[in-house]
Amino acid sequence: MIHSLYIHLPFCRRRCSYCDFYSQTNLSQKGAYIQALEKDAIYFQSLCGEIKSLYIGGGTPSVFKRREFASLFAILRRRFRFSKNCEITVEVNPRSANKNILSFLGENGVNRLSIGIQFLDAKLLKKARREHSPEDAEKLFIAARLAGFNNINTDIIYGFPGQDKKTFADTLNRITALSPEHISAYIYTPPSNRKNILKEPTPAEEIIAAMYRTLCRELKKARYCHYEISNFARPGKQSAHNLNYWGRGAYAGLGAGAVSSFGNKRLTGAHLNNYLLSPLKKSEEILTKKQINFEKKFLALRMLEGIPYRKTHEKFIAPGWMKKNGAKTIFTEKGWLLSNSIIVEL
Ligand code: SF4
Repeated sequence: MIHSLYIHLPFCRRRCSYCDFYSQTNLSQKGAYIQALEKDAIYFQSLCGEIKSLYIGGGTPSVFKRREFASLFAILRRRFRFSKNCEITVEVNPRSANKNILSFLGENGVNRLSIGIQFLDAKLLKKARREHSPEDAEKLFIAARLAGFNNINTDIIYGFPGQDKKTFADTLNRITALSPEHISAYIYTPPSNRKNILKEPTPAEEIIAAMYRTLCRELKKARYCHYEISNFARPGKQSAHNLNYWGRGAYAGLGAGAVSSFGNKRLTGAHLNNYLLSPLKKSEEILTKKQINFEKKFLALRMLEGIPYRKTHEKFIAPGWMKKNGAKTIFTEKGWLLSNSIIVEL
């Protein structure tokens, strides 16, 4: 049975320069899209048990209006049963979200927000083609607290073209001053699904490594637990939704381009126009045992959980990239930076 739901709302007012996700800027189809989501919900309804985590992501979900969210919530309530403590997250953008929508989300059971802050630096935000200013992001965070949200994630990026150690450290200081319960810090990678419009190179490798060290050090000082390669949480505030992904639990993804995974099956929805015509036309992939085992290992190594210790791991333990943790081998912070190349050798 599936206990985890993801809803993809793939609409943005404009495309950020670094974005590799599927989304589009024609907002006129939002209404039709919600109707299509109901067909998707009907399909997944019989495969789902009580839902323990719901994540509404994008795109930019906060470009949806209150009445559109109301229709979406009505569909979800009609089609699924939610556990009493279900973690319900909505991604919000500092420019499109406001007090009004935040209160509405809170009144409708949303108990976790994820704010796409990315940088608290005006020049980098402009280069990233984000719509908001650093002050918009801080104001939205405070508005979310005033609206009663006590579980907030902030997304930040490091290793971005033009970013230096100082601007990154400043962003980090201002973020920790806000004291969110959760911080996701992603290393910038140039888009691979579309043309990279940023001509400037990324910072040198040693600068990026220094940013990562600062990130780990400062967040440890601020009492965050580094529980996944890119994720830090205050005790008890790890993302239940993501823990299910990383534990390779089953999940249903509703929407254009959304991915679902259960058993050895992976389904991916079509892009918008085709999705609106036939929401249930999904591409299906059947994973082999070998693929599943590799995914399990890859995901376990991205978390503190690690994999069962073997003598062959010693070659990565000696240089300090991995360490023994009881009967398991886990990455050290130094090793996490090299993890992609090490994992394929394990
Ligand atoms: S808001 Fe998010 S999904 Fe939309 S373009 Fe920017 S990064 Fe991509």
